[in-house]
Amino acid sequence: MNMNRRDALKIGAVGVAAAAVTTLTGCNNAAATPAAAAAATTTGKKVLGKHQIVVIGGGFGGLTVAKGLKKKDSKLDVLVIEKNDTFMSCPFSNAYLGKLEGLNLGTFIFDYAQPVSAHGYGMLKSEVVGIDRAAKEVHTAHGIVQYEILVLSPGIDYDYENQFPTFSKEKIADLKRNAPGALIPGSEHVALDRMLKGMDDGDVVITVPSGKFRCPPAPFERASMIAAFMKKEDISGKVIILNPGKDIAKGAAFKEAWKELYNGNVVHMDFCKIDDVDTKGKTISFTQKIPTGKKDADGFEIMKEEKKSHKYAVLNLIPNNKANGVVAMSGVETTKDSFGKVLMNGCSFQTKTDKDIYAVGDVVGHGIPPSGQTAVWAGNQCVDEIINRLQGKAYELPVKTTTVNAGNVCYSMVGDKPEEAIMVTHDFSWTGAVITGKGNVPKGPDGKFRSSATAKATHDWYRGVMADLFS
Ligand SMILES: Cc1cc2nc3c(=O)[nH]c(=O)nc-3n(C[C@H](O)[C@H](O)[C@H](O)COP(=O)(O)OP(=O)(O)OC[C@H]3O[C@@H](n4cnc5c(N)ncnc54)[C@H](O)[C@@H]3O)c2cc1C
Repeated sequence: MNMNRRDALKIGAVGVAAAAVTTLTGCNNAAATPAAAAAATTTGKKVLGKHQIVVIGGGFGGLTVAKGLKKKDSKLDVLVIEKNDTFMSCPFSNAYLGKLEGLNLGTFIFDYAQPVSAHGYGMLKSEVVGIDRAAKEVHTAHGIVQYEILVLSPGIDYDYENQFPTFSKEKIADLKRNAPGALIPGSEHVALDRMLKGMDDGDVVITVPSGKFRCPPAPFERASMIAAFMKKEDISGKVIILNPGKDIAKGAAFKEAWKELYNGNVVHMDFCKIDDVDTKGKTISFTQKIPTGKKDADGFEIMKEEKKSHKYAVLNLIPNNKANGVVAMSGVETTKDSFGKVLMNGCSFQTKTDKDIYAVGDVVGHGIPPSGQTAVWAGNQCVDEIINRLQGKAYELPVKTTTVNAGNVCYSMVGDKPEEAIMVTHDFSWTGAVITGKGNVPKGPDGKFRSSATAKATHDWYRGVMADLFS
């Protein structure tokens, strides 16, 4: 290992982490601290005001809806409720972990002052703690906000409790601190980055959630970018992916990159169930199901279980996901799976349960991938739907045919020096009861999935979407 370069990085990491804590701790505090809970009970009955349209969540979906509504009709009274002080982007954050040239925290963190001034919607920085649909009230840590129309775009929560039913609250808190998931906007990405910058030789373990989860390629893009970082920093070790199943989003494209760029240093292990984590001893224990090559009477492969444990230098334990708790607070009907997506009113962004509540982003119950790009797409459809409603017009998705080409384009960085990326596109259609998406992972003219042109497109996409949300 190149000690001088690594030592300098570690010292740098302390400075960046300290700066980031100043920016980010405040954002996360408002949510779950005893102070916020106390504020909620003492100020809980205070009515702060009534707004025509209230949007919960200042992320990809929520900001798109707020901006779109004000652009279509500047007289609309729109309020966004967001618990964080600043916006932290999850898209492209894996490239930050890979330390691609020119990226820094400023590439990912944005303040809300700019879009609020530019578009004229209101913003309340507070945590939503309850929703009273009968009274049309959103209860926040700072008081009650009344609404005529409510839009939910609160994103996801982690589901440690169902994944690890025997773990105590203290153990889960320890995991959050020492093996951050980094799938939710906030300081977790900064913590993971600090751990990587501070690591010596050793392995990085990434666990993949089971069930539906945010941005299915994200754990695999992260593995690629951490492998790129380790290669660049001359860190001896592997990136080990523990997958509860065998599927990898954009699988063939990732496998091609891992084989050709990382010399066997990205190891994907399928059918792994996490049993325990010892954060002090830095050891993860899991059970892997391995095919025996024999079949049972019904023709199914017989698997044997092997208990394993592995020492890690850094652990990125990405827990199972579920719809953010705001969805349960609203009481709208959800899918019965472990995620609990919002059931929609046909091919629309109005909820099935309540005509005055709409939903966009990762929580929608359509069969489209949960991505920033689809949150923006859905946000714009939702805007049109609400505007039509306010103008007393019927609403239909605005296409003559029933298919929209490339409603979602999702890029994943896989290589550095030269930067290379892969992509998947989804065409959306709504011939059935919900909107559905069909994916395609294209190859370039050279027969490879990855290319520098796609890496450039990734940068362009990210710059474009951020400019759209924040200017
Ligand atoms: C590592 C990673 C890489 C990704 N890469 C891509 C990519 O390349 N392309 C892509 O299209 N997508 C990507 N995504 C997915 C994308 O980030 C999400 O799909 C998108 O953010 C979903 O938007 P949303 O509005 O549903 O949720 P979010 O953007 O998460 O916004 C939800 C907001 O609600 C707020 N909130 C939550 N609870 C409360 C509450 N109780 N009170 C007040 N506010 C609350 C949160 O603080 C947050 O700001 C990636 C995700 C990850 C994790």
